[in-house]
Amino acid sequence: MKKLILITILMSSALFANIKVDTTYSTLGAIVKKIGGNKVDVVVLGSSKYDPHFIVPKPSLLSKLRRADLLVINGGGLELGWLPPLIRSANNAKIQNGAKGFLDISHFVPMIDVPTSVSRAFGDVHSQGNPHYSTDPHLVLTIAKAIKDKLVELDFDNADVYENNFKNFSQEWSKYLQKLDAVMATCKTKKVVQYHELFNYFLDRYNIKNVGNIEPLPGIAPSSKHTIKIINIIKENGVKTILQDVYHEKKTAKFIADKTDAKVRVIPHDLGADGSKTLKEFYSNIATQLCK
Ligand SMILES: [Zn+2]
Repeated sequence: MKKLILITILMSSALFANIKVDTTYSTLGAIVKKIGGNKVDVVVLGSSKYDPHFIVPKPSLLSKLRRADLLVINGGGLELGWLPPLIRSANNAKIQNGAKGFLDISHFVPMIDVPTSVSRAFGDVHSQGNPHYSTDPHLVLTIAKAIKDKLVELDFDNADVYENNFKNFSQEWSKYLQKLDAVMATCKTKKVVQYHELFNYFLDRYNIKNVGNIEPLPGIAPSSKHTIKIINIIKENGVKTILQDVYHEKKTAKFIADKTDAKVRVIPHDLGADGSKTLKEFYSNIATQLCK
C-alpha cells in the first residue's frame, strides 16, 4: 500500500512537473505563457524599462539561468551585449547555444536590414540586421509556433496541451489582428521619425514611412549636426510624429519638436515598458500613440 501511495505521488508530481523557461524579454515571456499555460514556469530576464541591448547582467540573473530547462532568446544580436557571459557563467548544459533547451526565435522570422557584408553601416548594435521584430503583431503567431514546437519536443507527454493552447491562441490572436488592422487602416500618421530603429517592423507592416532616426546610427548618441539634419527632414516631409522609447534620453526629441510641428509620442518597445499588462494592450498602445 505504501509503495502504491509513493508511486501515485511520484506519478502526479511528474504530471505537474513544470518546464522552467527563461526568456530574455517580456513579449516573448507572455507568448510562452500563452502556449505553455500551467505546464511552464516563466521568468523574464530583461526588464522592459531598460535598453534591451544592454540589460545589466546582475548576479541574480545567474541563478535564474541555472534553474532553466529552456532559454528562449530574441536573437539577431539583441542580447549580444549582455547575455553570452551570463550563459557561460551559469554553466547550465541544458541552455547552452545549440543545446535542446536553447531557442533563438530570430531563426524563425524574416529579419530586415540584414547586412550583406561585414559592415558598420547599420551601427554597432544592429550588425546582424534589425532585431526588433517583436514589435510586429503579425509575427506573434510565428513566434508562438516556434515556441509550441520546442515545448512539444522537450515535453512530449504534454504535446496535446501545447497543441491545444496554440490552436486557441491562434484563433484569439487572429481575431485581435483583424481589429488592430482595422484601427491601423484609419491611422492618419504616414511618416515618422524615431529615436532608435525600434519600430521598423510595426511601421513596415502598416506602410508607415520612417524618414529618419535621431541616432545617426543604431547605438550612436545624437550629434548636433545630425539633429539639425533631422529637423530639416521633418520640415521637408511634413512629419508630425516623433517616436520616442521609454529608456533613451528625451531631451533631443523635445528639442526637435520645439523647432518643428512634430509631437513626441512615447511608445512601448516591449510589453510592460509603458505599464502594459497583456500582449493586446502592448500592441494597441503602440497603435494609439502612433496614430494620435
Ligand atoms: Zn536596436
